[in-house]
Amino acid sequence: MSRSGLVEAVPHPVWWDGREVSPTSDPLVGHATADLVIVGGGLTGLWAAIEAADAEPGRRIVVLEQGIVASGASGRNGGFISDSLTHGLTHGVSQWPDEIETLVRLGRENLQAIVDFVDREGIDADLRLCGKTMLATRPHEVAALQNLAALHRRFGDDATFLDQTAARADVDSPTYLAGVRLRIGGLLHPVALTCGLRDAALARGVVLHERSRAIDLATGAAGAVVRTESGSVLAAQALLATNAFEPLLKRLRLMVVPVWDHVIATEPLSTDQIAAIGWSENQGLTDAGNQFHYYRRTPDDRILFGGYDANYYYGSSRSADLEHGPSHLLLERHLRETFPQLEDVAVTHAWGGMIDTTTRFNAFTGVARQGRIGYALGFTGLGVAASRFAALTVLDQLAGRETERTSLRMTQRKPLPFPPEPVRWTGVQLTRAAMAREDRTGRRGALLRTLDKFGVGFDS
Ligand SMILES: Cc1cc2nc3c(=O)[nH]c(=O)nc-3n(C[C@H](O)[C@H](O)[C@H](O)COP(=O)(O)OP(=O)(O)OC[C@H]3O[C@@H](n4cnc5c(N)ncnc54)[C@H](O)[C@@H]3O)c2cc1C
Repeated sequence: MSRSGLVEAVPHPVWWDGREVSPTSDPLVGHATADLVIVGGGLTGLWAAIEAADAEPGRRIVVLEQGIVASGASGRNGGFISDSLTHGLTHGVSQWPDEIETLVRLGRENLQAIVDFVDREGIDADLRLCGKTMLATRPHEVAALQNLAALHRRFGDDATFLDQTAARADVDSPTYLAGVRLRIGGLLHPVALTCGLRDAALARGVVLHERSRAIDLATGAAGAVVRTESGSVLAAQALLATNAFEPLLKRLRLMVVPVWDHVIATEPLSTDQIAAIGWSENQGLTDAGNQFHYYRRTPDDRILFGGYDANYYYGSSRSADLEHGPSHLLLERHLRETFPQLEDVAVTHAWGGMIDTTTRFNAFTGVARQGRIGYALGFTGLGVAASRFAALTVLDQLAGRETERTSLRMTQRKPLPFPPEPVRWTGVQLTRAAMAREDRTGRRGALLRTLDKFGVGFDS
């Protein structure tokens, strides 16, 4: 009997089960001073805190988080960790052809540094460099995956094209027509990583205040003042790591739009259910379209299944109500189409999160107000590893240091802004429709080709 309808699904990330999902620090009350105040207690803010503290022990660093650590995207994501700083190699080659070799090297070094840090600090984040398999589910995607495998090999990656028999021998879905097994990057437990970074920051003397929403940011001769409902922090510099949330700095408001991404997770699979699928290497899986699913097994052998239906709402709505809706039912249908073997498996969790989408698909950093404010955001759905790189880059910029990171064209050039409403909403919907059409037909239409020329796109 099929079990559908999400009646049993709890409305929070599966990653929150059995973890601290309550505050571990007090709200900011009264006036405080610091050398650096960081707004946002996700991966970007925490990496920035850790790296700033390691670079200059004794520096007074305060992190303000409006919810709790890991309540944003850092505690809601799929846990795919990638070496790419450019939203994938294909995109990097097309956007930054002159410096892609450097970006690939820096991305690999960044991933390795995360692996080393997690190891050194003893963070139990279930980090496995198991790579992933990308799968073709439409005939025109087969050749695209052959090209992708060749491109990765050209950059020295371990990438194997799998024909339909080989793809299905590895992970058995009737929807698969071919695949590419990429042995780069891997999977982790996102809440465990984020809380591990929080503990590493606290151990370095960083002061954290959760339930402390920054409502105002001002600068003057003495530095930057960040105000919350019940207090304020005066610091020499402020760093904004607020991802897809309403930016405190006006100039960022057209640079990033919030796109809602949805995820479901099943109950733990039995040994027989896993055997019916195969999946012996327990790697991450994604499909190859513009609108793609990402899916994986959790440490307790549930299937986490997310993506596809990235939604933008008029006026960049960030209303919490948007987390739940029909996208979850669509995901459930797609999960059962992908794995009909799992007809009986219950969906136990359904959640969503906001993705900080830029017109160029990858993060940007910078400083404002005579170097008193720095910002790092715009990961467009691939920030688990790139957040560390962006944190280091903005720390360089705040310190006025010229480094390999700051001299990248990717760092020096900002993404094109989104237009204001109502043109923004219309533009996003037209682009989404064009991408869905390309997925169906394999043909990149005129609108997408034009946007490509300007390095503009829309993705989750
Ligand atoms: C559903 C989903 C799946 C994803 N899957 C993947 C994946 O598999 N792999 C991958 O690489 N990336 C993935 N991503 C993207 C990845 O999670 C993010 O890029 C990354 O976590 C960004 O970290 P962050 O610290 O910048 O943002 P966040 O984790 O969102 O942190 C920003 C923090 O700032 C706080 N904040 C905002 N405004 C204020 C304010 N005014 N005052 C105080 N605090 C404030 C927020 O509460 C939040 O905690 C996914 C994202 C989503 C939503």
